This record gives sequence, structure tokens and C-alpha cells, in this order.
Amino acid sequence: MRLLSADEGARALAGGQTLVNVMKARVASPDALVDLNGLDELKGIDLGADGTLAIGAMVTYSDIIASAEARARPILGEVCAQIADVQVRNRGTIGGNVCSNDPTNHLPPLMVALGATMHILGSNGERGVPAEEFFLGVYMTAAGPGELLTRISVPPGKSDGFASVAIGKDGTCIVNAAASVNGATRIAVGCVDAVPILLQPSSAEPDAVREAVRSAKLEPPADVHASADYRRHLAEVVAERAVSQARGRR
Ligand SMILES: Cc1cc2nc3c(=O)[nH]c(=O)nc-3n(C[C@H](O)[C@H](O)[C@H](O)COP(=O)(O)OP(=O)(O)OC[C@H]3O[C@@H](n4cnc5c(N)ncnc54)[C@H](O)[C@@H]3O)c2cc1C
Repeated sequence: MRLLSADEGARALAGGQTLVNVMKARVASPDALVDLNGLDELKGIDLGADGTLAIGAMVTYSDIIASAEARARPILGEVCAQIADVQVRNRGTIGGNVCSNDPTNHLPPLMVALGATMHILGSNGERGVPAEEFFLGVYMTAAGPGELLTRISVPPGKSDGFASVAIGKDGTCIVNAAASVNGATRIAVGCVDAVPILLQPSSAEPDAVREAVRSAKLEPPADVHASADYRRHLAEVVAERAVSQARGRR
């Protein structure tokens, strides 16, 4: 924490699967890298007596897939298994995934749909931020310069779903959606804005889900992979699929 706050140009290094690539492309050139890989305090997965999972920021996707504790919320391992390839899954961390907030990443919408809490350590101690308030913009989160995400708390629940349309198998998502129907229906749609879009339809029925997506009046980006109209269309499709998977687990 001392090293990170000593220099505004210092950056934390987690799995390096985003940061090292953007450095290679000369899009980022931090003054200093503070390697978090030796910090065991950031690595555990704990299952509390009430079913809440506390996942350290430096837990890798492979750790989550292999963890008996993480199976308390099965969607976590299922979604981590869909990220890229085995090398990325062995190095990439849950903390790095959400802190980079690449809008095409899998975990930002998942954390929002599950109602996770992000714990941030700063100069004034630690604070908890609800996932829907954590993502502020492309590559921008509530963990500011000199701060560290230490862990993520995920409340108990099993009725969750995730759906995406990606560029090829295990490829980057064109649109994705995560859903949770443990009590109220929560859907978070990714890749359609700088931050995941949280939708809370009055019911989990397909018509209500599609109406909630339409009412959000999404203005997704257009690129070589999909027009804005196609992404708007996919947002309805993947939201409905994610909710349908979640309802099947009630
Ligand atoms: C070929 C390839 C394909 C990929 N495909 C996908 C995909 O389909 N879906 C997907 O979700 N991801 C994908 N990724 C990205 C991958 O998941 C990265 O692992 C992830 O985005 C960043 O995690 P990391 O641990 O590697 O973080 P790093 O690259 O080390 O760090 C990323 C950013 O987060 C900051 N940071 C990291 N940890 C913390 C912390 N604890 N507190 C504060 N700031 C922190 C760093 O300073 C940096 O700015 C892909 C990557 C590659 C190389």
C-alpha cells in the first residue's frame, strides 16, 4: 500500500493477463509495478456459516473452478471455466478481472447480478462497495489510485445463470448477461455500455425480461463484430437465456 500510494503512476500487478498485454502494446506504461502475487492474504476462498463466500482478489479462475468452497455458488466456477484458455485461467485473477473493467469481461456483470460486495483498502482503511456501484467506466472502478481491492463477498444462492454470444469458442463476448433469481430477479447485461447494466424486472417471465431490456434503451457500441442493433437484439436473447438457466435451478 505504501509503494502504491508513493507514486501516482504505480500500478498493482495481478495475473498480468490484461496489464502486461496493454504494456506490450504501449497503451500503458506504469512508473512502477507492485506485484501482488506474494501476498497470501489476498488468496483464500472462505465459506462463512451463513453461506457467504469471501474470495480474495488474487484468487485465479482456476482456483475458483477447483475450489470446493466456491461450489456453494456454482455459477462462479461455471463462468470462470468459460474465460479464454487454460493459460489465462491459471494466471488471471478475480480481482484483476473486475479492476480492469474491460466491458467485454465475464466477471463484472456476474458480480453485479449476484449482488456481490467489493472490499477496497485505501489510506482510510477498508470499505465495502456494492458491485453495481464499483464499475465506473471503461477501465475505471471505485478502487482508485493507491487503493487495492482485497476481497469480494458473494452472498448465498444457487439460482443463477449466465449466457453470452462470443467471437468463437472461448472468445471475447459480443454480448453477455448474468442473472440471479434468488428472491428478486437481477440481471446484468455486459458489453453494451461502459459498465454492466443492472435490470430488475418485476418477474422472471420471458416477456418481462425482454421488456426490461427494451426499457433500458441500450446504446451499445458498433464494431466489426456486431452493429449496435444486433447487440441490442442479443441483449434480449442472452438476458432471457440467463434467466431461464437461473429459473431451472430453483
Ligand atoms: C488471450 C486473452 C483472452 C482473454 N479473454 C477474456 C475473456 O473472454 N473474458 C474475460 O473476462 N477476460 C478475458 N481476458 C482477460 C483476463 O481475464 C485477465 O486475466 C483479466 O482481465 C485481468 O486479470 P489479471 O489478474 O490478469 O489482472 P492484471 O492484468 O494484472 O491487472 C489488470 C488491472 O487491474 C488492476 N488490479 C489488479 N488487481 C488489483 C487489485 N487487487 N486491486 C486494485 N487493482 C488491481 C491492475 O493494476 C491493472 O490495472 C483475456 C486475456 C487474454 C490474454
